[in-house]
Amino acid sequence: MNTQKDIIIIGGGAAGFFAAINIAEQHPELSVAILERGKEGLQKVKISGGGRCNVTHAEFIPSELVLNYPRGEKELLGPFHSFMTGDTIAWFEERGVELKIEEDGRMFPVSNSSQTIIDCFLHEAEKHNVDVLYNHSVKSIQALENNFIIETSQGEFQSQKLLIATGSNPKIWNLLEDLGHTIIQPVPSLFTFDIKDKRIKDIPGVVAKNVEIKVVGTDLESNGPVLITHVGMSAPAILKLSAFGAVELAKLNYNFKIEINFIQLDFESCLEQLKDFKQEFAKKTVVKLAQFDLPKRLWKQLVLASDISETMRWADLNKQQLEALANQLTNAIFQVTGKSTFKDEFVTAGGVDLKEVNFKTFESKRIPNLYFAGEVIDVDAVTGGFNFQNAWTSAYIASASIMPL
Ligand SMILES: Cc1cc2nc3c(=O)[nH]c(=O)nc-3n(C[C@H](O)[C@H](O)[C@H](O)COP(=O)(O)OP(=O)(O)OC[C@H]3O[C@@H](n4cnc5c(N)ncnc54)[C@H](O)[C@@H]3O)c2cc1C
Repeated sequence: MNTQKDIIIIGGGAAGFFAAINIAEQHPELSVAILERGKEGLQKVKISGGGRCNVTHAEFIPSELVLNYPRGEKELLGPFHSFMTGDTIAWFEERGVELKIEEDGRMFPVSNSSQTIIDCFLHEAEKHNVDVLYNHSVKSIQALENNFIIETSQGEFQSQKLLIATGSNPKIWNLLEDLGHTIIQPVPSLFTFDIKDKRIKDIPGVVAKNVEIKVVGTDLESNGPVLITHVGMSAPAILKLSAFGAVELAKLNYNFKIEINFIQLDFESCLEQLKDFKQEFAKKTVVKLAQFDLPKRLWKQLVLASDISETMRWADLNKQQLEALANQLTNAIFQVTGKSTFKDEFVTAGGVDLKEVNFKTFESKRIPNLYFAGEVIDVDAVTGGFNFQNAWTSAYIASASIMPL
């Protein structure tokens, strides 16, 4: 086998395949190879979006799209003007894969199967003569003038240009550090909060549709739905906090307090409302009459936590109890004691320092002819298809910038 290539791509995941196909298509005269350590590639694509692959998100304004990236917001604005959601949709459509938009903006293949995306990539790679070499784990990289020497588990390769698309792989980050790059220490992003608390212990599955959450003692806050789980809390309001607070929450060792407003009213307005309810529903039992559009089971727990018993009627409530209930509704404090993996999607914050990447080309500012795409860079997003959009955008721009020497 010829082990000298024009362009080598390390990593046969989302970004690696997307880059390889685009390079090979734009430069049929070049030899392009992917070195992938697994016996198959695209494994994350396969399991992504619960097996459906949430390819991108129906957000078509670059300045809005970037707001979903806790790391990379500023840097991706330019790249999104070159290649973003609409281009992704067109790219797949031109290759026979139709995408659909779901109510919340997430986009999936119409087939509802990630295999459609994998089949498309494998077909395109073959069509454009990309050499996909599985079971080739990269062990070392040497950057010489006008050439890279790449040592793999199956021998040495050489290439003039090198694109690294190895996702969140610590070994490759170490190699890049040896080559002179700064690696921002990886920490998990997109996780759920572990909370042991009487108020939520018996109500897994309950959803509060629109809450505001703050992390006590920090500037971190978010809003949206919260799902009570068997071990704590999940859903977008929590996941957003975990992504935007990835670094800060890691420093707190995932032990912190959150303050939840369940009803979008401040304490005073809530108290006024409760006083009105006391008049209006005087003879009714408090726990049985959920207010503020809250789920019945959650309402009950918040009422019981306010020193109001199961049999009490609205008329029985004294000032302290009304205030305690207003507090539970607008300012409930929960102690978070750890984190759990969010099953649908998890990513790692950290990677190649953003300052060391030229975002017009995705070339390294430290090592000429070395390019990056995907999660290997210190970019990550909230859930919803944004992480893949970063992979497509970076891979596309890198592929358009890589010219033969
Ligand atoms: C369960 C799950 C579900 C997800 N669902 C979604 C979703 O629906 N939508 C979304 O936008 N994002 C989703 N994500 C995030 C998304 O999968 C990643 O952001 C994306 O895969 C990153 O692409 P990448 O090409 O940079 O890295 P990867 O897809 O991780 O690919 C890296 C590749 O490099 C290879 N590699 C690593 N080290 C070496 C080495 N030393 N030598 C050779 N090869 C190597 C790996 O084997 C791998 O194939 C999900 C993540 C997970 C874990």
